[in-house]
Parts: sequence; structure tokens; C-alpha cells
Amino acid sequence: MTDSAAPTTAPITASEDVLRRSREAVAGVSTGVFVEGEWTEAASGRRFDVVDPATEEVVATVADGGPEDAVRAIEAAGRAQKDWARTAPRERGEILRRSHDLIMARRDELALVMSTEMGKPLAEARGEVAYAAEFFRWFSEEAVRIGGDMTLSGDGRTRILVSKEPVGPCVLVTPWNFPLAMGTRKIGPAVAAGCTMVFKPANLTPLSSLALVDVLVEAGLPAGVLNVVCTSRASSVVGPWMSSGIARKISFTGSTEVGVRLLEQAAQHVMRSSMELGGNAPFIVFEDADLDVAVEAAMTAKMRNMGEACTAANRLFVHRSVAGEFSARLAERMGSLTVGHGVAQGTQVGPLVEEKALAKVEELVDDALARGASVLCGGRRAGGRGWFYAPTVLSGVSPEAALMSQEIFGPVAPVVAFDSEEQVLGWANDTPWGLVGYLFTRDVDRSFRVSEALEVGMVGINTGLVSNPAAPFGGVKASGLGREGGRTGIEEFLETKYTAVPRGR
Ligand code: NAD
Repeated sequence: MTDSAAPTTAPITASEDVLRRSREAVAGVSTGVFVEGEWTEAASGRRFDVVDPATEEVVATVADGGPEDAVRAIEAAGRAQKDWARTAPRERGEILRRSHDLIMARRDELALVMSTEMGKPLAEARGEVAYAAEFFRWFSEEAVRIGGDMTLSGDGRTRILVSKEPVGPCVLVTPWNFPLAMGTRKIGPAVAAGCTMVFKPANLTPLSSLALVDVLVEAGLPAGVLNVVCTSRASSVVGPWMSSGIARKISFTGSTEVGVRLLEQAAQHVMRSSMELGGNAPFIVFEDADLDVAVEAAMTAKMRNMGEACTAANRLFVHRSVAGEFSARLAERMGSLTVGHGVAQGTQVGPLVEEKALAKVEELVDDALARGASVLCGGRRAGGRGWFYAPTVLSGVSPEAALMSQEIFGPVAPVVAFDSEEQVLGWANDTPWGLVGYLFTRDVDRSFRVSEALEVGMVGINTGLVSNPAAPFGGVKASGLGREGGRTGIEEFLETKYTAVPRGR
């Protein structure tokens, strides 16, 4: 453990009443394998535990799927594909629209489930529920706008008809950090496009996804269109799907390491692949930036989800002339946040998702300190029970520190001073990742120049939040392939077919 700059108060706990409601919400979730419209136990009969990261208590067990369940699920998706592709776009859109409304009607309950299994504060969980629902509303509107095209060949002899068709059965795999929204960001466009699905949510946070199944069924999704298998051994389920020859697409959100492995498997059957992978976002504050705006944005870009976000500001580069003031103001804000059980009233920062995540953050901070960084606030675990880490600001961080080249995935903001635009651009792009970059300046020319020079898929100018269902989300380099959301989101689930029709004489 490291020394901290100030003593850390113990995380706040939830009242008995709130705990009871959280446990009741969890108990209301179906926890089986969902195939062809039926809930069953896993073929093995096994179950795995879901743990509340604030208390380390097991709050539920979930059917632990394996290869047999996986095969049943992908075969069901394969059988349902033809009829599902023939449904009217409006019908698919209406299912999504009803699902949006049902999610919003159950917002509090879903937020409780999410906060309990993942740790994020209730206010953030409610925000994610609305964000997740919005993907369904967005894609309900896209379902009826799948376009086509007809042109004439250059010599005028052929009509060129271009139409769009669903890709076919899709494999969907999601991470634990946004347990609901990462699922709806894939299920929404797949439903809109007319694709059937097999879905494996993260084993740390399966309950939010399982709760979503009941929503979609109630909204009228036909049996076989969505099949869900949770598991404690990811490859035992996803492996059979990838090698089935039935699945035509993989849409994955998670680490670059697993994404690369899945791309190798996808190559065997030449599957369409969408990859939303890791990030290492630079957050650049120029000397002319509005520091009020920059500090506020840093709080969002760093502390959303306790820093457990692919879009999290991982490296804060601040011009030397304002680095001291920026760091002090950020430390004041970060140091005054209330750490506690996500479901407890007043909590602003919840626990990290598991012990391993906490140990990694601790190791990264220790490494930075050993290389000369100073702690401005936090710098250590918070509390005995639960996987809490105190919001931390580090200054004087060496470019060699491990947290500059890895995803921190925790509430730690390393600040590095820079001297010139050229220098900071070199540092910002010196990473295999390229998901998002943030920049703060009042100079319009510079904002465009730097935005264009950043090797990323998304840029926030004077803002710490880029996620938006109406925008194309995704990265370049090792951060991924394809885009989710926006006008392009549905294209990932559509194939283009060209039909030649001679004009005759
Ligand atoms: P992870 O890669 O460990 O797991 C993601 C999913 O893949 C989980 O469902 C997991 O069970 C499954 N998985 C793990 N090993 C597998 C295997 N061998 N075969 C098939 N599936 C396997 O990632 P994580 O820890 O759950 O999530 C954190 C990562 O996700 C971070 O790197 C983060 O940046 C990234 N992320 C990216 C985005 C984005 O949109 N770009 C969004 C959220 C998270």
C-alpha cells in the first residue's frame, strides 16, 4: 500500500432498507439460459456467483452455460433467421420502441440491479439505463429507414439495384463496465436490421442483461431471435459460436487482447467483425483553456464509472503554465467526492468491480510513485470491505510510468506538464490505441488542427463526454473496427446486395 496525501474516510454503507430493495430487485431477475424463448438451467446444472463489489457478498447465482448450451443457442438463432429477416421493418421498430418505454418505466429497478452487481452509484446507473434505452429508440427510428439505391451503368445498358439485407445470425459479447448500454448498443441495430442473435454478457455483471431479456420478450420479440447464455468460462460458449459456421458476424466490446483472439477465430469463417476495444485517452489542456470548463470535464472524463470506461481520460497533459493550478483544482474536487456503496444515498464514487481491478490500480499508482510522481489526493485503497480506491490525482508523473501506457480503469488522474503543441501531440499519439481524445482551448484554429492530428476515432473539444446514441462511437488503431450508434450503427448489421437488371433495347 502507498501513503496518501490525506487520510481517507471510510466508504459510506447502505441502509437496511436500501439493501433490502437492492436484493429484491436482484431476486426479480431470471437467471437461466435463454434459448428459443425458454428459460432453462445450463446443461451441466452448474451456476456461478454474482457478487456485490461493495460488500463482497454473493447476491445471486446464474446458470453457468457451456458448449452444449452454446450449440443449442446458435442453432436456434440460425433457425429463426429467415422468418425474422422477412418481418416488416415497422414491426421490428415497434418492438424496439416498446422496449425503450418498458426500460424507462423500470428505470429505478434496473438501476438498482446494475449498481448492485457492478458498483456504480445509483445516479450514474439511472443515467446508463436512459442511455441504454435511447439506443432502442434511435434504432427503432432507423429500422424503417434502411435505404437502397438504383442507378444506371455508364453505358446506360444496365440498371444497378443496390439493396440491403440483414447480415445473418450475430454473436454479441459485452463487457462488465456498462452492463446494459453495451448490450442495447448491439441488440438495437441487430433487431432493426433483421438479424438474430446469440448474446454472452460479462460474467461479472450478467443480471442487467438478463433483465433486458424479459423487457424484449414483453415487447414482442419472437422466440429464437435473441438467445442468451451466461458463463464463467467465456471461450466454452463463444468458441462454439465462432466455429459454428452459422454465425455470420461477431460484434464484440471488451479488451483489445480478447478482441484480437476473436478476430483470429472470425477469420476462419470470414465473419463480419465489429470490435469496440480498449483506449488510452489523452486529455489535453492548453494554456488558453477555460480552466473551469477543463476541470469540470476532467471530472466527467475521469470519474464517470469510477474511471472504469474505455473513454476514460487516461493521460492528462496540461500546459506547464497552468498545470499547477489545474492539478490543485482537480485534486480539490476529486478529494471531496463521497466514496461508498453504489446503492447508498449520497455516494458519488462506488467500488471497483473486483479485487483484481483494485490490485491493478494500486500497482499502477505504486509504480508511478516509485518513478517520482507526487500524490495530490487519494493514492490508496479506501475502506476494508469492498473494493474501494480513493479518487486520486498524481502530479509530476514520468512518461515512463506504466499507467501512461496502460488503461488505468480506476479513479486515478495522472497529470503531466507539456511545453508545446508539437510535443503533446507526439505524446498523445504515442500509443497503440486510438479511441478518443479530449482537448481544451479557446483557439478555434488550434481546436481543429489538434483534432485532425489526433489518431483517434472520436474527439471531444471543450467537453469530457462524447458518448451519444446519435453519434458513431468507435476507435482506430488497436481500439477497434467499425462504429456503433449514429447513422452508421445499423450498417454494421447489413450486407449490400447488387442486382443487375438489363434495360433491353
Ligand atoms: P474482456 O475483454 O476481459 O471481456 C469482455 C467480454 O469478453 C466478456 O464478456 C468476457 O467474458 C468475454 N471474454 C473474455 N475472454 C474471452 C474469450 N477468450 N473468448 C470469448 N470471449 C471472451 O474485457 P472487460 O474486462 O470485460 O472490459 C473492459 C475492457 O473493455 C476495457 O479494455 C475497455 O476499454 C473495453 N471497453 C471498450 C468499449 C468500447 O466501446 N470501445 C466499451 C466498454 C469497454
